[in-house]
Amino acid sequence: MVKEKEKLVEKEELEEEVPKELEDLPGVGPTTADKLREAGYDTIMSIAVAPVAQIADSSGMTQAGAMKAQIAARNAMDMGFSTGSELVKKRTTIERLTTGAPELDELLGGGIETQSISETYGAFGSGKSQIAMQLAVNVQLPKKKGGLNADVVFIDTENTFRPERITQMAEARGLNPKKILDRIMVARAYTSDHQMLLVDKVDELIHRQGKNIKLVIVDSLMSLFRSEYAGRGTLAVRQQKLNRHLHSLQRLADKHNLAIYITNQVQSRPDVFFGNPTAAIGGHILGHASQFRIYLRRGKAGKRIARLVDSPCLPEGEAIFKITAKGIESA
Ligand code: ADP
Ligand code: MG
Repeated sequence: MVKEKEKLVEKEELEEEVPKELEDLPGVGPTTADKLREAGYDTIMSIAVAPVAQIADSSGMTQAGAMKAQIAARNAMDMGFSTGSELVKKRTTIERLTTGAPELDELLGGGIETQSISETYGAFGSGKSQIAMQLAVNVQLPKKKGGLNADVVFIDTENTFRPERITQMAEARGLNPKKILDRIMVARAYTSDHQMLLVDKVDELIHRQGKNIKLVIVDSLMSLFRSEYAGRGTLAVRQQKLNRHLHSLQRLADKHNLAIYITNQVQSRPDVFFGNPTAAIGGHILGHASQFRIYLRRGKAGKRIARLVDSPCLPEGEAIFKITAKGIESA
């Protein structure tokens, strides 16, 4: 009896020691914690996985201090091994959102997935933003119509979001445009830092305002990064920031079982003479982050050709669809 009671006490004490808030980490007081949160490190997990130099930079802690906090954070975490069966279980909660074109949905294995980042890239006018706006409408549809019955966040970096186009797409489906527009939270991003901050705010929209967000769009992902980090010497910094940005997007997708849709530009590759002379910008970091990459190009008579590139589990293939006044449709 006595022994059991002792054990119980021991367990309670142990549980108490596990840090839950940033302030519970060694060397992290309220001021340091605030600085970390401002920089986007708002959970024990984010401290556990961040580069030590970045923790130090954003908090004003010394490298040694940051390292100590990180070790404590890592000890507190179950650092991420899952069994195959646990992963199967998690994957059963994945939901799919229709693009509006059955051929395109089929190419993607049934529409764009929650818990994943889907990316389209292609030349100007290839249809990336049209798909973004169509998804913003479709996510609001009931599940039996291919939607997720949910709200959407639209981060617009190129000022190409058009409410009139949403109205047109909504009316084509017999939906009330005002109601549809009310559930699209649009934010114009002016700098890459602003863009990153907006992604962090999505968590707040869900937690504090109780929004049921199932889709986050970033149109386009790279334009601000590209213009701000134009010089060769700045590429490493750009990629580091981009990496952080993509991790926050993926974390959102996992945490809230929501879908991420990003658009991307192409870079001409004058060195490639045969085959496809264009590649998505963003390099390997982006290539590994998005689970579904679709290359879009114009076909004949207003048609669009979508090619699925480098999918972890789906065959490469192409689908044809069209963009009309109604939106994204079967060709
Ligand atoms: P990007 O890939 O640069 O984001 P968009 O998604 O903006 O390209 O696609 C623009 C193209 O979509 C236009 O060139 C036009 O072909 C088509 N489009 C846009 N609006 C309409 C509309 N209301 N009716 C028919 N086609 C449209
Ligand atoms: Mg666009």
